Amino acid sequence: MDVIQEIFRIFAERGESAYFGEPVSQQEHALQAAVMARQSGASNALCVAALLHDMGHLIHGESETIADEGIDARHEAAGQAWLSKWFGPEVTEPVRLHVDAKRYLCRVEPEYLAQLSPASVQSLALQGGPFSLAEAEKFESNAVFAGAVELRRWDDAAKIPGMKTSPLEDYRDALGAALRE
Ligand code: FE
Repeated sequence: MDVIQEIFRIFAERGESAYFGEPVSQQEHALQAAVMARQSGASNALCVAALLHDMGHLIHGESETIADEGIDARHEAAGQAWLSKWFGPEVTEPVRLHVDAKRYLCRVEPEYLAQLSPASVQSLALQGGPFSLAEAEKFESNAVFAGAVELRRWDDAAKIPGMKTSPLEDYRDALGAALRE
């Protein structure tokens, strides 16, 4: 399977769905996160991780109101499992850890929790709530800790209605360069 074609197909099929109680679609959210990564001068792998961090939501086609039903879809694990067939850990680990990064930031930055969107606060409870101090310290020892936290901040910011971004097509080469050999 040509995974890049498959990613484009999945975005075309499901990317217009709403991003869980936020004012942007899944595809707008992904493109905004990716452009924020690029503007930060992030590595290509981390830009690709930003673009694909919610693939776990898209491959499942779960309902837009899943958190309202009290369900944590564990999309970070589903996304990592799917992506790891084609991409290495420098892409898949920040994806796997982007929910843990939110739980981490809730512990170490008092102001972080206050700026989360209502939908993100709702999902936080389902995701296990803020880390304990011990969990936060353990998280900091992760090899991709810094990248996971950066990805989380782009994820939180990438909810801007009507923001102009470059199209998905512009990421074809970046995706190709991030593929595992
Ligand atoms: Fe996201």
